[in-house]
Amino acid sequence: RAKVLGKGRYEIYDPVMHELAVGRLSLESRLRQALHEEEFVLHYQPIVSLEDGAIVGVEALVRWRRSESELVYPDQFIAVAEETGIIVFLGIWVLREACRTMVRWQQEFPRDPALTVAVNVSARQFAQHDFVEQVARVLAETGIRPDTVKLEITESVSMMDTEYTVEVLTQLQRLGVCVSIDDFGTGYSSLAYLHSFPMDTLKIDRSFVAQLDRGEQGRQIVGTIMNLARDLRIRVIAEGAETSRHVEELKTLGCDFAQGYYFSRPVEPAVISGLLAARPAAGSAQGPLDREAG
Ligand code: C2E
Ligand code: MG
Ligand code: MG
Ligand code: MG
Repeated sequence: RAKVLGKGRYEIYDPVMHELAVGRLSLESRLRQALHEEEFVLHYQPIVSLEDGAIVGVEALVRWRRSESELVYPDQFIAVAEETGIIVFLGIWVLREACRTMVRWQQEFPRDPALTVAVNVSARQFAQHDFVEQVARVLAETGIRPDTVKLEITESVSMMDTEYTVEVLTQLQRLGVCVSIDDFGTGYSSLAYLHSFPMDTLKIDRSFVAQLDRGEQGRQIVGTIMNLARDLRIRVIAEGAETSRHVEELKTLGCDFAQGYYFSRPVEPAVISGLLAARPAAGSAQGPLDREAG
C-alpha cells in the first residue's frame, strides 16, 4: 500500500517499519520516564590484580530495572539512549551514582592504592561542550578522589576528531581523573595516534582474550598489544577473562589486571561489599570470587 505524500512522492506503508518506528518512540519515552522514576541501577564488576588476585577496582555497568522481574541490559537501550540524547542525562547519573558508591567503599575498605571506579562514557556524552565541567561538578559533589575515577571511552570516540579529543583528555587529566580506552583493538584506531593521547589504561577487548583459546596466533595478538602498551607506559586490563587458562596465559604475557566471568560477573553493590569484606587487600589466594553469585 502506497500513501501519496505530495507531488510525485510516495511512501510505502510497511507494517514492519511502522512497528519499528512506534517501538522506538515508545522506548524513547519509556527511557525518559525510567530516568525520572529512578529505574536505572548499577551493577559492578571487579577488576583484579593478576599478581595477587586482589580486587583493585570495579567497573560500573548500567541496567534498567523495568519491573520487579525484568532487568534490561545495556545492549537493549544504550543505542537508543545515544540516538535520542538521553544518554547525556543517563551518563551523568551513572557517574554520580558510581562515585557516591565508591566513596563509601573507599571509606569502608581502605586500600593502598585506593579502590578505583571505572565509568563508561558514550561518544555523545564526550562530545558535549561542557563534558569536562559536568565531570568536575560530580567530583565536587561526591568528594571522590579524582585519581580513583577512570573514564572509559571507546576507540571510535577517541579517534573521531583528534584535536578535540586531545584537548578534552588533557583537561580531564588536569582534573586528575584517569582515562581508559575501552574495547581496545575493535575500533578503527590508528596505532600511530595512540602515543599522542593522554591516557592511562588500555582495555583489551574480550574478543582478543577469547583468541587465546586458539593457541599461538591468539597469544601473538595479545602479546603485541602488551608490548605496545609497555612502550607507551600504559596500563593494560584484559576484558573477558573467563577461564583459568585465560588467566594463566594473560599472566605469562605480562598482563597485570583482568576482569571477567572467571573472577566475577557484574553484581549488585551488596555483593561487591561482601567480596571486599571477605578478601584482604593483598596476598589473597587467586580464584573465582563469586562462584555462588555467578
Ligand atoms: P563494556 O564497557 O566493554 O563492558 C563490559 C561488558 O562485558 C559488560 O557487559 C560485561 O558484563 C561483559 N563481560 C564482562 N566479563 C565478561 C566475560 O568474561 N565474558 C563475557 N562474555 N562478557 C563479559 P554489559 O554490562 O552488558 O555492558 C555492555 C556494554 O554496554 C558495555 O561494554 C558498555 O559499552 C555499555 N555500557 C554499560 N554501562 C554503560 C554506561 O553506564 N554508559 C555507557 N555509555 N555505556 C554503558
Ligand atoms: Mg567499559
Ligand atoms: Mg569494555
Ligand atoms: Mg568489550
